[in-house]
Parts: sequence; structure tokens; C-alpha cells
Amino acid sequence: MTAEIIAIGSELTCGAKLDTNSQWLSRELEALGWTVTRHTALADDLEQIAAEFRAAAQRSQVVLVTGGLGPTLDDITRDALALAFDQQLIMDPESLQQIEALFEARGREMPERNRRQAQRPEFSEPLPNSCGTAPGVLLRVPRSGLAPQTDTSCLIAVLPGVPAEMKPMFEQQVRPRLSISGIAINRSVLRTFGYGESDAERLLGDLTARGRNPEVGITASEAVISLWITARSPGAAESRRLAEEVRAQIRERLGEAVYSEADDELHDVVARQLLDRGQRVALVEGSTTGGLLAHWLTEEPRYAACLASSHVYGPSDCETGLRTRRSTEWMEAAVLDASRRLAAGEADLVLLSSTHTEDVTDKGVPVRRGYVAIIGPGIAELHDCSMSGNLAIFRQRAARTALNRLRLALQRQAGH
Ligand code: AMP
Ligand code: MG
Repeated sequence: MTAEIIAIGSELTCGAKLDTNSQWLSRELEALGWTVTRHTALADDLEQIAAEFRAAAQRSQVVLVTGGLGPTLDDITRDALALAFDQQLIMDPESLQQIEALFEARGREMPERNRRQAQRPEFSEPLPNSCGTAPGVLLRVPRSGLAPQTDTSCLIAVLPGVPAEMKPMFEQQVRPRLSISGIAINRSVLRTFGYGESDAERLLGDLTARGRNPEVGITASEAVISLWITARSPGAAESRRLAEEVRAQIRERLGEAVYSEADDELHDVVARQLLDRGQRVALVEGSTTGGLLAHWLTEEPRYAACLASSHVYGPSDCETGLRTRRSTEWMEAAVLDASRRLAAGEADLVLLSSTHTEDVTDKGVPVRRGYVAIIGPGIAELHDCSMSGNLAIFRQRAARTALNRLRLALQRQAGH
């Protein structure tokens, strides 16, 4: 059950516009049980578009095309469709009437060039457009050279490029023709922190092999590794069971690095832990996290109950002794500062980060150096967050390291 999507328009290939239609359509198709194997973006070139239509029809059972249905001369999708499958372009009288009626309703006469929009390949069906002038086109073409039991035809649906016209046309007229895959897809995500992408893949071993069901995909973003689980089976209950089995295997292999079984950020998880325990954290941030912890922990009004205070100190802040560069001295200053806050009843826990320094290793690699610390009753941890890479990533990784260590410390205290 494979499908592909072709987006047409030189505005896409030259970089002026982003192809968001293919992303939207892929999600729709995948939700119906179709596997989308290819996205193609093409410039407004007749021969090239026609060749791609022919190739796509051989490869896939469903091909969705968007764009190039406008009235102007660079909109040539209809011509390319007729050329690709050796059909005449004919005028569709009903479509023409609808386009004329639309202009009349707007109090305008239909420009001559809009007549082109009522054309379609002779053995196709028009898809009326409820939101604009350009009707879509539906065409079924044979696929040759396939094994006898396979579906030997390909359904091509051509939709307008304008997203606001494309979406209702897909929903009202194309989706009902595609809801026959009979496959229930179960998709879920596990979020992990602490391993790099390659380590995670090594630990997951065979689970990430291509062509398996469920499929496990790995993506890395801002130091968080996400594992995307896609299970396919004829029944929804079976898909869920397959997915749960793999989720359990992942949890077993990655252990406490898995911090969420849903679409959570680390700070959401930590805030919930603190709120559950009725504890409050004070933040004391140098440039290593630069206020990022405060930024995240003030995102949701309900987190206010777990955030006691937040202080961002600059490099000229000499009072606390926190601007020192050596890790042992910094930790001493951090413990002093935190103890003072804890003794004053300001908070139950203190998360601190150091100012950062920029350095170059013997081998000429630039590194940023910085530390985070967690201090509270029964906890005094220092973590070195030094790494090469840009400042934004360094900070995100340091802030997430602090949150992740706090999460684990709270988990240990809760006796898990
Ligand atoms: P067209 O139907 O090719 O004349 O496209 C009309 C307009 O729709 C373009 O100018 C774009 O702004 C928008 N558009 C076309 N294709 C896409 C696409 N794949 N993704 C997002 N917007 C698109
Ligand atoms: Mg165009």
C-alpha cells in the first residue's frame, strides 16, 4: 500500500516557498494506513513533470499531486498529465460552468485564460473546487509488468497548490476513495536523554532494523533522542499490542534514559515530579544555561507552584563567588550559595549553573566549558557540560542535563 506525493511549482524548487502540502498529505495518508515512500518537488517543466508522472504511476498505487492548476501559462500540470498518459486534453463543460458561475458570483467576467482550468485529460474525472477556481483531476492508470495478484492500477489525484483549497478537496473528495487500506497504524514516541544517537541505535540493536514491524525511527533534536514507533496491522488492537511490546523492549534496553512515554519535554516531567511532591526549586543560572531553565519552568502557569525563585547572574557578579572557573571552587561556591537559600527556606532544592568559558583543545577544537549542580537535602551533584558546538546547543544540553539529573535524583528519592 504505497503512495507518493509530487509537489509542482518553480516557487518550491527555487526556495521561495516551502512545500508544506506534502507534509500535510503524508500525515493524512499515513493515518489512513498508506505508507508514503517518496516526496518529489518539480519546477514548472512540462517534459520533466510528465516523465515523473509516468514513473510514479509505475511505482505506487496512489500518487497525490499538488500545484500547477492555476490559469497562468506556467501552470501546466493538466497538460503534463495528458502528455504522460497519452490522452487528449478536453474541455469539461460542467467545470467550465462552475468557474463561470464563480466569477459571476464575484461580480466579474471570467477572463479568457481561466477557461484552461476547466480542461482535463479525456479519461479523467474532475474534482469540483469548493474554495477556488481550479478544479482538481482524478485519473486511474494501469501499471504494467506487475505480479498477477498485485493491484494493477494507480490512482492519481491532482489537487490545487493553495493549501486552503487543497485540504478541503482532499478531505471531501479524495480521502473517501482511499480509506480502504484495511491497515490500522499505531504511532507513538518515547523521549530519551543521556545517550547520543549512535549509542541509542547500538543499544536498540535489531529493533531499529529497516523493514521491521513495528518500525522504530530515531531522531535527535536539541540533545533529546526521540524514538518513533510505528506498528501496522489489520486490527487496531493488534497494532497497539505490537507497539506496546516494542515500547517495553526499548524501555528495557535504554533504562532510565527514557524520560517520557509521550510528547513531553524534560521540564514538563520534572515540574510534575516537583508538584506531586509539593517541592519547590530555586534556580541560580550563570551563562552556561543563561536563564533557559527559568524560561522553561515559567512556560506553564501551573508550574509557578514548583518554582521558588530564579536568579540569573552575570560575569560581573562577584558577591557569590559563583563566577570562578575551576570546577572544585565553583562547586564550593555553589554549595555555599544553595545552603544559604535552603537555610532561609527559599526552596527545597537548588539548581545552579556556572558561567561558561570558551577554550580551544590541544588539537585546535573549540570547546565551551561549564557546569551544572543540584543541591538539596541528600543531594549534591556536579555535572560537567563541556562540549564543542554552538552556544544555543551547549546551553540546551546543559539545561537538560541539569533537569535530567534532577529527575533521576527525585526518582531515586521516591524509591523507584
Ligand atoms: P499553483 O496551484 O501552483 O498556482 O500554486 C498556487 C500557490 O499555492 C503558490 O503560489 C503557493 O503559494 C501555494 N503552493 C503551491 N504548492 C504548494 C506546496 N506544495 N506547499 C505549500 N504551498 C504551495
Ligand atoms: Mg504554480
